[in-house]
Amino acid sequence: MYDVVVIGSGAAGLTAALEAKEQGFSVLVISKNYPTFSQSCQAQGGINAILDESNDSIDDFVSDTFIASRKISNKKRIRKFCELSKDSILWLNKLGVPFTRDENNNIAQRRFGGTSKKRTCYSSDYTGLKIINTLYDTCVKNDIEFLHEEFLLDIAVENGVANAVITLNINKMKVSKYPTSNIILATGGYSNIFSLNTTNSYLTTADGLAIAYKNKAKLSNLEFVQFHPTVLKETNILISESARGEGGYLLDKNSNRFIDELKTRDEVAREVYKRVVKGEEVFLDLRHLGEEKIDELLPQERTIALNFANTDILNEPLSIGVAAHYTMGGILVDENMQTTIKNLYAIGECAQASIHGANRLGGNSLLEVIGLSREVVKSFNKDKIVCNIDIKKYQKEIDELMHKEIKVDFYKVKEQLSQILFEKASIIKSNSSLNEVLEFINEQKNNLKYMGIEDKSTYYNRNLVDFYEFKNLLLISELYIKSAISRNESRGSHYKLDYEYEDESFEKETIIENQDNDAFIYFEEIK
Ligand SMILES: Cc1cc2nc3c(=O)[nH]c(=O)nc-3n(C[C@H](O)[C@H](O)[C@H](O)COP(=O)(O)OP(=O)(O)OC[C@H]3O[C@@H](n4cnc5c(N)ncnc54)[C@H](O)[C@@H]3O)c2cc1C
Repeated sequence: MYDVVVIGSGAAGLTAALEAKEQGFSVLVISKNYPTFSQSCQAQGGINAILDESNDSIDDFVSDTFIASRKISNKKRIRKFCELSKDSILWLNKLGVPFTRDENNNIAQRRFGGTSKKRTCYSSDYTGLKIINTLYDTCVKNDIEFLHEEFLLDIAVENGVANAVITLNINKMKVSKYPTSNIILATGGYSNIFSLNTTNSYLTTADGLAIAYKNKAKLSNLEFVQFHPTVLKETNILISESARGEGGYLLDKNSNRFIDELKTRDEVAREVYKRVVKGEEVFLDLRHLGEEKIDELLPQERTIALNFANTDILNEPLSIGVAAHYTMGGILVDENMQTTIKNLYAIGECAQASIHGANRLGGNSLLEVIGLSREVVKSFNKDKIVCNIDIKKYQKEIDELMHKEIKVDFYKVKEQLSQILFEKASIIKSNSSLNEVLEFINEQKNNLKYMGIEDKSTYYNRNLVDFYEFKNLLLISELYIKSAISRNESRGSHYKLDYEYEDESFEKETIIENQDNDAFIYFEEIK
């Protein structure tokens, strides 16, 4: 039995695993994929920190983060988060992350939207990749055990205490249980509810949120989904915020700038979206930065534009669009990253830690996954636990799926879900459009009995995993829509045409409780 089982090998999972091992706990990391496939690997722009207090201050960092959150966050927790930033960067630096340096050989910083200072540390525009490579290398060096291609099916909760994880080995199609006194969910966000319009990889499918909710952990703030204002049109490949941070312009169809490019993402994305839905082209113009700056600071963006849009950003503006990028909502956690289930923790993008509120600042997510994930270890349960869960029912469910006749193709439904969500429930919505989506979701919940898997093979059955992921996405889509219907105002990334202004009575966090498999949604004061 391990002291700690971490689910997920993105930056959050690897960081928590390293810290737990360092503190003497035995650790197992379970992940449905390899670390280099994680979402964290794709982070480009950087990670925020106050390195030199003579140039910048914790107070300013707290204030920028709080303002961006539109008051839906906890200032005390933001302060702690900001105070952890310097140590987080120095820790990564010590492990060997090759941060870009300035002319004095100090760690260089760039400016991101919504911030008052240059605060974002980076490794050219491959920051996430360099961080993951370094963290994974260190895990391997420290003999941390991994189970890759192992899919979390469920957690066992007895008398309100989590005591085991139940997984499916994707290669062998075998169900197993891993009892432990500390389970950490580090399973990433839920942007794939917009699977046709997201910058996220196909694995960001809300599994952790869905499993936590089914076991009656509270979720929170699901209506807050951040759309990125600069993705390559038609491909959804991210063009990093560093492009605007380094001075890029946004141009409309008449080549006019239409917004201050360094405003927060919600505002910029809304302005881009308004033009895109009218069928107008929007461009990111980097030509004035010049070849030297582009090749030094934005090499990946230049390559992406060349390879995927046949555009050389040295000479031409780049046609862009918007896509779901980051999910501020998640599993509700307290200041120790504990969920509302004992011995169950959530870290990284799957958690709602009362930091980002209605709008996350670029560079703050990587800081959360490093800074707060190192902290989680402090409140671990040191007692041994007993686990009585019988896992036969999971194998039986899979066996039944193998024999089930299929009348509805869930892959098609997943696409339809993404389409209707983007059209009626994305950047700009209203209660009537949200209700249309809810009707569609309810129909598909009824249709689940006709859905299943075509591929009956007993090894590496991707079809089976896709089906589990789809069911998780459908559930979280429903909770996203119900949360959005409940919040009758516009705030940050949540913008409703029928309630276009912030309403003080909604200066609260949204709480979602599972009551007899029905979502009970209410609002709680920010403490
Ligand atoms: C293109 C892009 C660029 C970005 N750039 C930046 C940036 O510059 N700065 C910044 O601060 N943020 C950035 N972000 C956001 C940031 O990268 C993510 O929020 C962060 O990396 C999330 O880390 P995580 O460890 O929580 O989750 P992830 O990195 O998403 O990892 C989740 C892990 O959970 C595993 N998992 C999920 N479900 C299961 C299951 N059922 N069973 C087993 N394992 C499971 C996955 O395999 C994976 O290993 C960017 C995001 C994107 C999409």
